Amino acid sequence: MYNNQMLRFEKSYTLEKVTKTMPVSKYYKDYVDFTITEKTCKICDQYNNNWSCPPFEDDILKVWKKYANIDLILLKLNYDEFITENKFSKGDIDIILNITLYNEKRKILQELHKKVMNPEEYDDAMILSTGYCNLCNKCTRKDKKPCRYPKNKLYSMESLGALVSKTTEEIFDTEILWINKDEGKIPSYLTLLMGLLY
Ligand code: SF4
Repeated sequence: MYNNQMLRFEKSYTLEKVTKTMPVSKYYKDYVDFTITEKTCKICDQYNNNWSCPPFEDDILKVWKKYANIDLILLKLNYDEFITENKFSKGDIDIILNITLYNEKRKILQELHKKVMNPEEYDDAMILSTGYCNLCNKCTRKDKKPCRYPKNKLYSMESLGALVSKTTEEIFDTEILWINKDEGKIPSYLTLLMGLLY
């Protein structure tokens, strides 16, 4: 149930959304290195446990060769002093993220899904999300069963080898800031990078 604190969290940020478009060949050449990202994926508990994460059964890099252009979409949530000057418990940080960052992620995914459903605008486009696919409560890969929704499964930029920090720094002039859960601190802004291949 919503309470006053949750309403305050909801109003605790302003949103910036910036989209940059470039040829996939250029992005792939300068910003994709699967050998680097896979090292990070290997220490994540989703590795080999989610069909949107490595190791992949097919040659996943062929995705990059299939499309001509990529829209890179950066969401930046700028938090106010109520968030940045207070300390929060781990549970409160999860609530804040759900109400702010993940809510904006859900909204942009809905927008992108609507876009790619329009055949006049896009023919066989592919959305690249952030984080692992969580369409199902429990990914079927954990039980060694096929993906339940292969057409809707969401790969993330990083799972396909995109160097996210390099992208945000060099293309969007924005450094990624991190939450410090041990100290209960949320930085002045948080970012999400998504993509649309078409
Ligand atoms: S759609 Fe479901 S089964 Fe398929 S990758 Fe996503 S969470 Fe896993």
